Amino acid sequence: MSFASLGLSEPILDALADQEYQSPSPIQSEAIPAVLAGRDLMAAAQTGTGKTAAFTLPILERLSSGERAQANQARVLVLTPTRELAAQVGENISTYGRYLVLRSTVVYGGVKINPQMMALRRGVDLLVATPGRLLDLYNQNAVKFKQLEVLVLDEADRMLDLGFIDDIRKIISLLPKQRQNLMFSATFSDEVRTLAKTIVNNPVEISVTPRNTTAKTVKQWLCPVDKKRKPDLLTHLIKTEQWGQVLVFTKTKQGADRLTRHLSNKGIKTAAIHGNKSQAVRTNTLADFKAGTIQILVATDIAARGLDIDQLPQVVNFDLPHVAQDYIHRIGRTGRAGLSGEAVSLVSADEFDDLSKIESLIKHELKREYVGGYEPVHELPQSRLDLRPKKPKKPKKPKKPKIEHKDGQRVGKQKQEKVITSKKPIKRRRRT
Ligand code: AMP
Repeated sequence: MSFASLGLSEPILDALADQEYQSPSPIQSEAIPAVLAGRDLMAAAQTGTGKTAAFTLPILERLSSGERAQANQARVLVLTPTRELAAQVGENISTYGRYLVLRSTVVYGGVKINPQMMALRRGVDLLVATPGRLLDLYNQNAVKFKQLEVLVLDEADRMLDLGFIDDIRKIISLLPKQRQNLMFSATFSDEVRTLAKTIVNNPVEISVTPRNTTAKTVKQWLCPVDKKRKPDLLTHLIKTEQWGQVLVFTKTKQGADRLTRHLSNKGIKTAAIHGNKSQAVRTNTLADFKAGTIQILVATDIAARGLDIDQLPQVVNFDLPHVAQDYIHRIGRTGRAGLSGEAVSLVSADEFDDLSKIESLIKHELKREYVGGYEPVHELPQSRLDLRPKKPKKPKKPKKPKIEHKDGQRVGKQKQEKVITSKKPIKRRRRT
């Protein structure tokens, strides 16, 4: 199948030819005709499947006709959970839309708002935004939605994980009812489905990565090792295996900084990307990594989510993630778009529970390979997979006393206790 047969016109086909894409990826073959036909879409797809082009290409096609955006208006709104993902979607739009005369801009938090207000002044055809900053701009009358034709919700599951549900609901309430809706999510949990019901209308459903499976092109293995020897083992692997660029995941920001110092001291060009770094530093670090001036990028899960780094051959889990699903997201950074990749986990005995959860989720044991000289003193127990189907949750019984949220909705007992005992919000909410 060719891109031309999907109904895309010359300027877009030329931009794709510049990228040397041979043919559409599976999600693109399915999504592009549906979006061109004006249908709503609900797609289960991870980063690496070509999902960004799957919505960007038909949207660009549709935007090339129709009324241009007036002052402060946006015709298409793409919401993303993180700043990095917003920037990447923006880059994709510029790449694929290079031969079209369309205006687009990207807005996110952590940087000055004034240049973003200026960019919106004349109106934009495409606006890519993180939820918090979009609402700030709306509240300052910098953006309006009278002309909005299409809403894209990218990585909906991550939006919910990061506690953006209220912002999303608020944003949706500001949009015209008559619009096209495209929703993308790596997974479709019950929570995501509930959100989907309020957004998409009779959608075309596409699933390109079966739920909870990992990309087949990624060779996965684990290396049992004592916790304190992990930094030395990683240094050893980087040198002896002659790894090129590697994305390394740590559980914490402090862990990321410690490891970065360790590797740098060994003469390996390393930088960290995490929530404590300013947006400018994160953007520059990512650019340096993409340019190859940094060999090792150490990242926490939130910072790395959705990062699109071309042809990344190697991912290392320096720590296993607590949330098993994050393992799938992490290794989705390699073996992308049909290329092969390798994901190695350095696992110490104290991480055995996390390992069991991951292996149960992906439904197979990870192959173990010991590295000579780094065999652990604290042996990693043998894996035991729990493949029992998850029991459906029992419906909640109404509880007394009933406490009301600001918006009038009742909350469950657990949440009530949290609300009463701590003043902190229930969910982490990242400012964007
Ligand atoms: P995404 O899933 O949107 O993060 O895209 C993953 C990567 O695949 C990006 O680097 C794209 O440039 C690349 N890509 C997207 N579509 C194609 C295609 N049809 N052929 C080859 N590479 C592609």
